[in-house]
Amino acid sequence: MKKVIYPGTFDPVTNGHIDIVQRASDLFDQIIVTVAKNPTKTALFSVEERLEMLKEVLKDFQNVLVDSFDGLVVEHAKQVGAVGIIRGLRAVSDFEYEFQMALMNRKLDSEIATILLMPHARYTYLNSTIIRNLAQFHGNVSEFVPPIVEKKLKEKFGYK
Ligand code: ADP
Repeated sequence: MKKVIYPGTFDPVTNGHIDIVQRASDLFDQIIVTVAKNPTKTALFSVEERLEMLKEVLKDFQNVLVDSFDGLVVEHAKQVGAVGIIRGLRAVSDFEYEFQMALMNRKLDSEIATILLMPHARYTYLNSTIIRNLAQFHGNVSEFVPPIVEKKLKEKFGYK
């Protein structure tokens, strides 16, 4: 049974993240989407809210679980028995960071692989920061996030 983790901030989950989960779930037996509790980043949504949205939007995937962790990604991967870490690669701009992370994680644990997956081209410009900024100014986010996330963003920023 090949298990992988897909770690991230998911503040909030977007259609780009879901595209990556879909691709990973076609390749591996089990995917654990895991919310990193990162105290150095100020998040819009609490970890609980992010978990709730992820659980809702990923509920139809039979082989996907959602959890959270704090600490090192490789440690969490090992703890849950994962063979690898899934990350999304949108553009050249992601490459350097992901490359550094992958090599550092390999140094920390040579048995945990990093698997970089490319989303559909339509998601390559999408990230959670852009979505939060768009929603802050009451923009239409419906094309980029699932309906439950749109609802939550509208509640946060007080618009309909
Ligand atoms: P982080 O803050 O760790 O980058 P994110 O939640 O922003 O966490 O992203 C988690 C992972 O998903 C990262 O590997 C990121 O590159 C990837 N990702 C985010 N948005 C997209 C997207 N639109 N298409 C493909 N991958 C994405």
